[in-house]
Amino acid sequence: MTSKDMDNSFTSLVEAQRIILETCPVLGKEKVGILDSLGRTLAENLIAKRANPPWNNSAMDGFAVRNSDLPTDQADPEPVILNVIEEVPAGRSATRAVGHGEAIRIMTGAPVPSGADTVIKIEDTEPTKTHVKVFSHVKTGSHIRKQGEDIAKDECLIPRGAKIRSAEIGILAMMGKPLVLTHQRPRVAILSTGDELMDLDDQFDEDKITNSNGYAFAAQTREAGGTPIVLGISKDRPEDLKEKISEAANADILVISGGVSMGDYDFTKIVLNEIGMNIHAWKLAIKPGQPVTFGTIRRTLCFGLPGNPVSSMITFEQLVRPAILKMSGQTNLFRLTMHATFQETFSKRPDRRHFLRGIVHIENGVPTVKTTGNQGSGILTSMLKANALIDIPESVEQLNPGDMVSVQMLSEHVPAISN
Ligand code: AMP
Ligand code: MG
Repeated sequence: MTSKDMDNSFTSLVEAQRIILETCPVLGKEKVGILDSLGRTLAENLIAKRANPPWNNSAMDGFAVRNSDLPTDQADPEPVILNVIEEVPAGRSATRAVGHGEAIRIMTGAPVPSGADTVIKIEDTEPTKTHVKVFSHVKTGSHIRKQGEDIAKDECLIPRGAKIRSAEIGILAMMGKPLVLTHQRPRVAILSTGDELMDLDDQFDEDKITNSNGYAFAAQTREAGGTPIVLGISKDRPEDLKEKISEAANADILVISGGVSMGDYDFTKIVLNEIGMNIHAWKLAIKPGQPVTFGTIRRTLCFGLPGNPVSSMITFEQLVRPAILKMSGQTNLFRLTMHATFQETFSKRPDRRHFLRGIVHIENGVPTVKTTGNQGSGILTSMLKANALIDIPESVEQLNPGDMVSVQMLSEHVPAISN
C-alpha cells in the first residue's frame, strides 16, 4: 500500500481514475466476423477500395437524355418528343449510347448510359412504347448520382479507434469486408463475497439474500463491451477467497464485491495483500461507494468494490467501466455529461462528491432532473428508476430548485414532458 493510502484521508475519484487508467493496457487485436464487430473498436484504418457510387447512376425511374435535346428554359417552352431506343433496369447496363433526339428508359440505380447527361423523372413525361414526350426544361445532371459523390476511392473512411456502430457495419459491408480487425474484448471475472449470499441456482434459503451484485456487474461488463466470467460466491474465509481469486488468473480484470470495509469478516484486502498484490486501499471521496481497493495480480487488474448494491454499481460505473473501455481500444472513456435544471432541495457536507440517482426529462425543451427518491446505498430500485447520475461536486453544500447541475447520462431514453 502507498503511504497516501495508509493515512485515513480521502482520495478523489479523479485521482483514482488517473491511477487506474495509467495502469490499464490496451488489449491486442483479433479478426472477427463483420457482425461480431458491432460494439468493438476498429483496430485498422478502413481505406475505401472503391468509390461510392461506383459509377454515375440514376436516382429516379425515368429517361436518360441529352440535356441539349430538352425544351428550353423559357416560361412556356414547346414540348419535345424523343425516340426511346432501349430500357435499362438496375443491375444491367445499356448496350447503346444516347444520341441526338434519343432517350433510354432507365430505372433507379441503373448506370447512366454514355451520351446522356440528364435524367427526367417518369412523372414529368408522357411515354408511349416507342417515344417519350418531355414538357419542361431541367438542369444538366438532374437526378444523376455522381460517381464518388459519397466516397472517393482510397480515402480513409473510418479511422482506427472508432467504435463500430450500425453505420460502420454498413460501410464495412459496402467495402466488401467479411472480417474486421478489432481490439479484443476484455475478459472480466466477477466474484461476490459474503456468507449471507445465495446464488440463483442454489436451494432457496429464507435467511440469505441473493447475489444480485454478481449479475449486475456481469450486465455492466457486457454493456461496456467486455466478456463477463461469473465466478460465483466466495465465503468470508481467506482460503475460499484465495481459491476463487486464483480462478481469475486468465482474466484481464477481476472485480470482487464486498469485504472491503473494516468489518471482522472483510478479508478482501488482507487476501489480496497476502497473494502479493500491491494494492491501493482507497477511501474514495464519493458517496455512495467509499471503500475501494485496486491493484494488479500479474496482468489482471483487480478491483475490490463495496458490497452495497448501489455502491457496487456506481463504483463499477466510475472505475471499472472506463478501464474496460480503455482495454477495448476506446478513447471516449466517460459517459455523456450535460447540464440540467435541478428540481429539488438537497444539502450535504462539503466533503465528498455525491452521485444521486436522477431522472432527466425534457421539460418545455429544457433538460431537467429530479432524484429517484430514497438515496440509500442499498436501494437498488434507485438505479432501476434512474436514467442519469447527478454529479454533485465535493465543495457543494446546498442545492435549490432551479440550480444547474451536471448529469452523467446512463441511458439515451429521456422522457419529454410539456406543461
Ligand atoms: P460488505 O461490503 O461485504 O460489507 O457488504 C455490504 C452490504 O452489501 C451487506 O448488506 C451485504 O449483504 C450486501 N452485499 C454484499 N455482497 C452482495 C451481493 N453480491 N449482492 C447483494 N448484496 C450484497
Ligand atoms: Mg461482506
